[in-house]
Amino acid sequence: MTLRSPVLLVGFLLAIAAAAAASAQSVVIRRARVADGTGGPLRAADVRIENGRIVAVGEVARRRGEITIEGKGRVLAPGFIDVHNHSTSGLAREPLAISQISQGITTLLVGQDGSSPLPIAEYLDARRNSPAAVNVATCVGHASVRSRVMGEDYKRPARVDEVARMEALVDQGFKDGALCLSSGLEYEVGGYAATDEVVSLARVAARHQGFYISHIRDEADKALEAMAELVNIGEQANVPVQNTHIKVGTASVWGKAKDALRLFDEARKRGVDVTADCYPWEAWSSTILVLIPNKKYDDPESVGRGLADVGGAANVLITSYAKDPSFEFKTMTEIAAARGITPIELFMEIARNGGASVVVKSMIDEDIRAFFAWPWTMVSSDGGIEYRHPRGAGSFPRVLGRFVRERKWLTLEEAIRKMTSLPASRLGLEDRGTIAVGQVADLVLFDPRTVIDNATFTEPFRLSSGIERVWVSGELVWEGRPTGARPGRVLTRRP
Ligand SMILES: [Zn+2]
Repeated sequence: MTLRSPVLLVGFLLAIAAAAAASAQSVVIRRARVADGTGGPLRAADVRIENGRIVAVGEVARRRGEITIEGKGRVLAPGFIDVHNHSTSGLAREPLAISQISQGITTLLVGQDGSSPLPIAEYLDARRNSPAAVNVATCVGHASVRSRVMGEDYKRPARVDEVARMEALVDQGFKDGALCLSSGLEYEVGGYAATDEVVSLARVAARHQGFYISHIRDEADKALEAMAELVNIGEQANVPVQNTHIKVGTASVWGKAKDALRLFDEARKRGVDVTADCYPWEAWSSTILVLIPNKKYDDPESVGRGLADVGGAANVLITSYAKDPSFEFKTMTEIAAARGITPIELFMEIARNGGASVVVKSMIDEDIRAFFAWPWTMVSSDGGIEYRHPRGAGSFPRVLGRFVRERKWLTLEEAIRKMTSLPASRLGLEDRGTIAVGQVADLVLFDPRTVIDNATFTEPFRLSSGIERVWVSGELVWEGRPTGARPGRVLTRRP
């Protein structure tokens, strides 16, 4: 080879330097127990990563100068994919995403519950220009599109011309790189949409090989009707549908997870591609006022019904109450009994004094277990960066520590599948979600004996334990602390 110009010479030297740097980056994780994401049994293997990809799995010969990490009883899994994440704006404020990578999460799907940035292109460009430690993909949000078209006049079904304008915005969202259409039909803007409006927009998602992910119209007394609407949307629009953070959330539907899953199984038999995701907590946290949907806080009958819906005052834990901090971390039943009043009277008093923060039981174990046992349920957090619920920092380790190790509700391999290949296939991410030669090296190394969530309702930001190392595109982002690397990519179907 002859080099005819200094420019070419420099180029040649740079190429050699790049090749040297790339080989220096080669890493082998030796004798880890590999959970490859497919649900197949754990097996001891070496995994080599190079240039951001997995290049060997099995017995790997030693190579001089290579970084070697001894697996020693640890599990090596594909990076976890969180299909319902609220870090849409958090990624800009805290790109290291410490509460996320410390759980083993390597990809976030944002733009949830009907609410996404618009235009999508601008949002994704901002993420490309300032990458995070984690990968990000987004949905285009139904309510965001609806607000853009209808403005303040949204408390009604949309007209045909308005639906057409929404379709154009959803179409643009997919062209810009969205992977899905999200909705929040229980919320203010999306809730006024008729099913037909959603079907029209879901058809646009189908045209782009996307999917429809929904916080369905009701997660309480009418949850089963809302699930039937979801199936109906999937059937009419011929689009895959996902019941996100699936719930049967009030006393009248407790125990009905199996009915919900029967509905979904029947739909799947008819060819409707319906899936779900679930976060591993039985309680939500909010203000006490949301217990009374009709907002009649001084009407004993409404208050009584609201408390009955969550299974009674014993299921309502006060976590902060400015007027009298002695109430904190007691249930309403305990406080009322100590003061010789009824829980209804106590509620009315708290509401008059400005309300309180509460943690309220919304699910029973039997239902959560049934949802996690269903083969088509993924693990999600419904949390994210700076999220004030322990699910923001603890969801994935909680499943591995409490549901797999302590309660033995599901096998480790199956839990990992629900965190990796299942969501990857939902998102259409063909080169992530499994450990195999050629796959992108998004990886998690954790100790199955110690992995656990530490976040609580009072300390929601406490990080999880047991996740020892996390790689994104072959770069180490977490080693018990963040490395500072920000190799996260924007994931779209188009390059
Ligand atoms: Zn939601």
